[in-house]
Amino acid sequence: MKILSYNVKNFRQLEYIKMLPESVKQEIEIVSRVLPFKANNYVTDYLIDWKNYETDPCYILTFPNRHMLPEDDYQKIKWAVVNNKAQHEITQIANNIRLSLNPHPAQQQSNIPSLNGEPLPGVQHKYRDIALFFPTQGQTCHANCTFCFRWPQFVKDLDLQFSMKEIDRVCDYFRQHEHLHELLFTGGDPMIMSPRTISKYIDTIFKANLKNLKTIRFGTKSLTWWPFVFLPQYNEEAQEMLDLFKRIVDKGIHLSIMAHFNHYQEMGNSAVAEAIANIRATGAEIRTQSPLLNNINASAEVWEKMWDQQVNMGMIPYYMFIERETGPYGYFQVPLAKAYDIFTNAIRYTSSLAKTVTGPSMSAAMGKAQIMGIIENPVNGEKYFQIQYIRHRDVNQSYKPFLMHYDENATWIDQLKPVDSFIK
Ligand code: SF4
Repeated sequence: MKILSYNVKNFRQLEYIKMLPESVKQEIEIVSRVLPFKANNYVTDYLIDWKNYETDPCYILTFPNRHMLPEDDYQKIKWAVVNNKAQHEITQIANNIRLSLNPHPAQQQSNIPSLNGEPLPGVQHKYRDIALFFPTQGQTCHANCTFCFRWPQFVKDLDLQFSMKEIDRVCDYFRQHEHLHELLFTGGDPMIMSPRTISKYIDTIFKANLKNLKTIRFGTKSLTWWPFVFLPQYNEEAQEMLDLFKRIVDKGIHLSIMAHFNHYQEMGNSAVAEAIANIRATGAEIRTQSPLLNNINASAEVWEKMWDQQVNMGMIPYYMFIERETGPYGYFQVPLAKAYDIFTNAIRYTSSLAKTVTGPSMSAAMGKAQIMGIIENPVNGEKYFQIQYIRHRDVNQSYKPFLMHYDENATWIDQLKPVDSFIK
């Protein structure tokens, strides 16, 4: 199976796109000057329901629309494109808009550690036991999801990328931090790399013989957006990838594939089921995660069905995230109160095996803040969010529930007011 990629330059060649109104095609062209998109022939041929494209979750995940930008910004970039302004002028306007979209939420840059006084630009170390590694060759993705908080990684004009190739320096960093037990390959999507490229990283890790490295994780959307990465009958490199997984497991290292699933519609094809079975046969486990996204999956029914289906297919539901305040978040964000309602109304009906999932959780500057409940003061009727950090920069601050004043419209923890006193 040959991958055919589509972006703003060639998407009009797609037969499905030809059927869309001209105004929709123009919107895609205009918005993608700011937020680039990417599609492939599996997504367009098998995942998108083109008859209902306006509400189809896989279409909205793939193609930008004008509502993903603030109206003023949309008009600015539209003016430049429609009036055929010089490329450098369009780029300047696009970059100004990008910089106003909070490209590095949750102070990600402050997570870059140093080794012997020199920064490790492709590593983030926020929590005691896990480091994120951004391999240079894995900083693109099978998708450029319209909602993605890593979108600056895909925008070449911004000097905002994290990445590095020197895995030996990462190994040295592990040696100096005995509490580090896990390494997460992330991006972009590390599964965009060839098995040969990933093997070079893994072989260096093996040679380093790190006693404290117990788990390797790969964050990826390939299972749903290009499952042929794991299907040898369609892709000559797939067996090599599966063999690499097996080598990691045989080395005694726990391997976890962190799969991005945003909607149960992504699980409907036999190719996905087969890819899951092939991965599991290597001894790797698959955990699933997604943000809660307005216009895509903001209903309890979608999550209940998605989690149950994941369990039935042999995967482990892991995280429901709150959409971060970055990129087109105005279009995708769901208020915390509604998110909690969706979470509880989904989880209470799932099988027990799906209750492994944690959420709704915000990946905030200090850590992963989970909404545990909404409670009411019996004395005065005031409402509060009960929150805890399930991960915190300071491990001693995790799993300590606290209250914040309820706000029906708040979409992030920093919009909530702390509680001075519960009983008034
Ligand atoms: S697959 Fe994940 S990393 Fe890639 S664009 Fe989508 S959300 Fe971002």
